Order: sequence, then C-alpha cells, then structure tokens
Amino acid sequence: MKTLQAVRGMNDILPADSPLWLHFERTVADLLASYGYQQIRLPIVEPTELFKRSIGEVTDIVEKEMYTFADRNGDSLTLRPEGTAGCVRAMLEHGLLGAGASHKVWYNGPMFRHERPQKGRYRQFHQIGVETFNLTGPDIDAELIVLTWRLWKKLGLAEAVKLELNSLGSSEDRARYREALVAYLQARFDQLDEDSQRRLSSNPLRVLDSKNPQTQALLVDAPQLGDYLNDQAQAHFDRLRALLDAAGVPYVVNPRLVRGLDYYGLTVFEWVTDRLGAQGTVCAGGRYDGLVEQLGGKPAPAVGFAMGIERLLLLIETLELVPAELSRQVDLYLVSLGEAAEVAAIQLAEQLRDALPSVRLVVHCGGGSFKSQFKKADKSGALYALILGEDEASRQQVGLKPLRDHGEQENLAWQDLPERLRQLL
Ligand code: ATP
Ligand code: MG
Repeated sequence: MKTLQAVRGMNDILPADSPLWLHFERTVADLLASYGYQQIRLPIVEPTELFKRSIGEVTDIVEKEMYTFADRNGDSLTLRPEGTAGCVRAMLEHGLLGAGASHKVWYNGPMFRHERPQKGRYRQFHQIGVETFNLTGPDIDAELIVLTWRLWKKLGLAEAVKLELNSLGSSEDRARYREALVAYLQARFDQLDEDSQRRLSSNPLRVLDSKNPQTQALLVDAPQLGDYLNDQAQAHFDRLRALLDAAGVPYVVNPRLVRGLDYYGLTVFEWVTDRLGAQGTVCAGGRYDGLVEQLGGKPAPAVGFAMGIERLLLLIETLELVPAELSRQVDLYLVSLGEAAEVAAIQLAEQLRDALPSVRLVVHCGGGSFKSQFKKADKSGALYALILGEDEASRQQVGLKPLRDHGEQENLAWQDLPERLRQLL
C-alpha cells in the first residue's frame, strides 16, 4: 500500500523541533503578559464572507490563496488565512467594543494560504498576532513596535532585523494619491509587468510592492503617498516617529510600503531581514481603523500586527541563536531491575516530583537489563541516572550516577536525594 503523506506545504513539527517552538512561544507569551496583553483563542474555520468583507476581494489572499469549502449544510467556510478578521468578528460578536472599551489581545495559531511552498513560505504556517481596539493615538502604534523590538532583543535578533515604516494616510488621502499614481503609471503602461498592468485597474496601490525590478525602477520617480497626507495623518506619523526615536527603536521610512490587505490606513510597518532570502518579512502590521465598521460594528479604531513563527525560527537557526540549554530535555533517568524495584521506582519518582516540581525525570519503562536501560539513559541526554536494584529498593536507598563524565556513583537514602539534586542541578 502507498504510504500517506502530509498535504504539500503543511509541515509536521517533530519532537526534536518542538523545544524551540515552545521556547519561542513562551518568550512571546511572557513578554505580552508583561505589557498587559490578554490571550484570545479563536476558531480556525470562519464563514468565507468574513474574509471577503475584511481582507478585500481583489487581494492575493482572497483571489487565489484561500482554502474554501462547503460544509455539510452547504455553508461556505474558509480555513483562516490570517487572524485579524476572526479577532474583530469575535470582539463584535461578544459586544466587547461597546462604550469605547479598549482591549489589547493576542492569539497564536495556524493560518492557511494556498501559496507556492518554498523556504519560509508554507500552506499551513503559524502566526502570533496582537490586536488592540479603541485606542486612536500614535502612542499605541509605538507601543506595539517597541514591544516587538524588545522581543527581537530578547531573542538576539536585533542586529538581523530592520523596521520599515510608512503612513497610508486617510482613505481620502489614498484616493487622491491613487489618481496621481494611476495617471503616472498609465503613461508608462507598456513598461509594467503583467501583474502590475492588471492591478493598475483593480488595486493600483498594490503595484507599489511589485517584486519586478523593472517595475520597481519605474516607481523611483512615481508620486509618493507621503506627499498626500492630510495634516492630521501627518501629525500622527510625526508623533509616532518621535516616540520611536525616544524609545531608541531604529527604523527607515519606506514610502512604497503598502501591505497586502486592504483594511490598513495611517501607520503600516514591517520588520524585515536579509538573512532569509526572498521571504524576508518576519512581522508586519498596521492601523485598521475602518475594519470594525466594515464588519458591521460601530466604528472602533484598531491597530495590530502578526509575526510569522516559522520565519522567525528559521532566522534563529540561521544565526545559530538556538539557546544551548534547549539541546537537553531530560535531567534524570531512573532505571530499576526486578519487580520490587519497579514498585519502588514509581514511589521514588512521585516523591521526587513532589519535592522538585521542575525536575525533568524520565522513568524507564519496558524493563530490560541494566545494560540496555543505561544505554537509553545515556541516549536521553540526562545528566544523572538514578539506580534502583532489589537491594536499594528494600532499604529505601538509591544510586546516583553521573552520565556526562566518568564520575563515581553515590548511594543515598531516598530522603536525602532531593537536597543532593538541588545542589547538583
Ligand atoms: P509575504 O509578503 O511574505 O507574502 P504577507 O504580507 O502576505 O507576507 P501577512 O499577511 O502580513 O504576510 O502575515 C504576517 C506574517 O506572517 C508575514 O510577515 C510572514 O512572516 C508570515 N507569513 C505570511 N504568509 C506566510 C506563509 N505562507 N508561510 C509562512 N509565513 C507566512
Ligand atoms: Mg503573502
């Protein structure tokens, strides 16, 4: 029979890889808690309509990347391609945005997009996203950026990532700019790549983030969005920049940064790296003050971002920044020989877990000779073996043998073991 395989572009995260995932997720969760953000957990499947109405019909995601299917009632459902839409839906559905109540929330989980799989680009990938609601000022935009900066520093990535920043202005600003951009590009239509020609009528701002070098060259002299900002939008952007300067976060203004989703306005930003080849954006976000209303709520300003976990872990691995302590997952490996010792082993192990709750103790299962058990103890990476023979078991004694050097075995009474381990581990 042909063996079955995972769906293309959807990856298993194997036991050897999960310590880094856990380390990363815990680091982010602790950081967000330290800023007072609360976790929200959302469904992976949403009504297709939600994404059409929020992300925009003429975006790559909605046009060609969604996993959409009819459920057994005939309702059209979609595996979420991103987290913002579902988060806004939940906030609205549960009435959390009423009376101007502000919220700072985050989520973590798989997202699905039917893209061409390659390094750093998958069909199931994972994002940690952060969203804030009913906060209008540039102070919250700055906080979101400052907390990501702190995260990069914590992970050792600060040197490897760069912040790109732009303002998209108001929707009126963008409408006026759009006209100027279209006029400019229309006059040079023949020099545009095929995708950009198509987008010029459907979604002209998207031409700005074309990856085609000839199109990029053409854009050098194009009108710039920054010249079309109204006074309020300009003041918001200036204030954000002043706050980032005060917090010591380096950035560059990229006048061509737009973002692939339609719901953004004012602040947009991306953290990019040049160490991962083409898939260089590790975190991206911006302000989306219009989305809540667009999804049927009373207007509520919002700003957020999402980071791609796979790309960040790739970056950590590429830069050889995986913390050394992650390579060892076991402290102690308990071996025992004979039926009485097996009973003693389970008792001793549970006593130890009471006394030292954070100790990582593997109790050997499946019997076998001491020799074969020691082989497994060694392979587990444990620092010490605990040894229980019939004799030790009957006298409530235990052997403690270092596995990483040729140190001598000690023999201790059970009640003295926790204290000795506290000294050693
Ligand atoms: P890109 O330009 O790389 O396609 P995007 O603008 O589509 O990114 P967002 O929707 O802003 O991405 O998602 C935020 C982050 O999620 C990205 O910066 C990236 O780190 C990650 N991401 C997006 N799509 C994928 C994917 N297919 N595989 C892995 N990570 C992804
Ligand atoms: Mg994309």
